[in-house]
Amino acid sequence: MVPVDSTDAVAHVVALAAEVRAAYADRPRRPLAVRARRRPGIAYDDLPNSLVDRAVEPGDADYRSVRSTYLRGGAPGLVLRPRTPAEVADAVAFARRHRHLPLGVRSGGHGISGRSTNDGGLVIDVGAMNEVEVLDEARRLVRIGPGATWKQVAAALDSRGWALGSGDYGGVGVGGLATAGGIGFLSREHGLTIDHLRAVELVLADGRRVRASREEHPDLFWAVRGAGANFGVATAFEFEVSEVGDVGWAQLVLVVPDIEAALQRYAELVAAAPRDTTVFLVTGRPRQGQWVVQLYAMVDSPDPDVVVERLTPFAGLGAVVQQEAVLTRYASVMAQAADVGARRSPRPGEPVSRSAFLPALTAGTAADLADLLRTGQVFFFQLRAMGGAIADVPADETAFAHRSAAFQATAMSADRASLDAAWDDLAKHFEGLYLSFDTDPRPERVGDAFPPAVLARLRRLKRAYDPENLFRDNFNIDPGVTDADDTDDTEGTDLTGATA
Ligand SMILES: Cc1cc2nc3c(=O)[nH]c(=O)nc-3n(C[C@H](O)[C@H](O)[C@H](O)COP(=O)(O)OP(=O)(O)OC[C@H]3O[C@@H](n4cnc5c(N)ncnc54)[C@H](O)[C@@H]3O)c2cc1C
Repeated sequence: MVPVDSTDAVAHVVALAAEVRAAYADRPRRPLAVRARRRPGIAYDDLPNSLVDRAVEPGDADYRSVRSTYLRGGAPGLVLRPRTPAEVADAVAFARRHRHLPLGVRSGGHGISGRSTNDGGLVIDVGAMNEVEVLDEARRLVRIGPGATWKQVAAALDSRGWALGSGDYGGVGVGGLATAGGIGFLSREHGLTIDHLRAVELVLADGRRVRASREEHPDLFWAVRGAGANFGVATAFEFEVSEVGDVGWAQLVLVVPDIEAALQRYAELVAAAPRDTTVFLVTGRPRQGQWVVQLYAMVDSPDPDVVVERLTPFAGLGAVVQQEAVLTRYASVMAQAADVGARRSPRPGEPVSRSAFLPALTAGTAADLADLLRTGQVFFFQLRAMGGAIADVPADETAFAHRSAAFQATAMSADRASLDAAWDDLAKHFEGLYLSFDTDPRPERVGDAFPPAVLARLRRLKRAYDPENLFRDNFNIDPGVTDADDTDDTEGTDLTGATA
């Protein structure tokens, strides 16, 4: 507001108006038809200059390709696509002025639990920041943008004989997975993806650009490795990657008459397998009283005899109806992901997915899981073998704390209420959940994702780094809640570390 109470003041207002006109003169004005489709509560005409060309709104031609994500239809009011950390900071500043709206942060757009799209809110999409760069050849240190897919990362590292374990699907983005955990085919041998992280650059809620590592903002570095979505927008990751040669890769399709026995046998075989061997089991609804079980297996060995020796026991789980076993590159396995990009065509709804860590797969667990599968309500059920190098890392090293789990289980269904009820009934077999595979929006799931002491520490850090809870859309650690383990002590939280 400028008080107009003198000739000088009038002149001042006139000059100001000219300044504003000049500042906005070269901005492309959207046609009326586009402006008509704008959503309420968004200051579309107040975008920072840096983002004017990087903004997509509902009436724009590009909107169709950015509104939804791989698994979830959406209709955000505005998608901002920054290309640099400075532009990300501008986008975060714009989001701060729109705190009343949902805010999605998107990298590869493959979030299952994530909310990287929404209805009527903002999305900051860092998909364009997808460079993969070698920083230090001797240390195998690489810098990766959040928008790269794991398929791109694997392809870039392969020529040097390197690999960075990610997950089982190359279409997934770096940003979402590397801020949550990363349980994949190389985890038993080389650890989770976050175990290779040496530094991360972030734009915080207040717009500061920080670098977190063991030396700089160590608390933040701890938090990002498991709960990253709550603390800012990651703009670059530095990973120390592994030397990985040819690997054995197999996909087996088996028919089993008794799913309970098959689950138990699978668990025994996993327990007996060396850490170079990782086998994931997938099944679904029964078919005419039988079960189709798919096994996806990686053996980190270039020796075909070792591969055959490791996989033969697993092939005995049932009648093999299809099999493929090859010696190949980790990058070739990641390359099997379809090139659909992050965005599929918009569609309503989203799959309902529940997740759990199993400390062990006992006879009782197998019996109860088999009962659930017999109901036919679960169309996709997966067990991921964990252990090995994942458990070598102390539980308090990262915010991802479920280091001692033997398996990670995921169940997907079309019906939220019945899956939630059935999954809740199985809770006695579970010890927490992996937030990347769970869509349950009930706030108590945050307590499953993080054990009490971890959650209390995260909450203290959230109060320090995002006290107004800007980043709240994905497994929100609400800074306003007080936990039993909470001492409300931010001592030791270094908020003054170096800027990137
Ligand atoms: C087909 C498929 C296979 C999968 N396989 C595996 C697997 O093998 N192992 C595994 O561990 N996970 C796996 N996942 C889960 C996957 O890791 C998570 O869904 C992950 O969040 C996807 O990352 P994204 O960047 O592609 O997703 P997005 O949809 O872009 O983001 C998901 C969420 O991550 C957060 N986020 C994204 N980018 C950033 C950023 N730059 N800074 C801060 N927070 C950010 C946001 O909260 C966002 O809502 C799989 C998912 C799919 C769909």
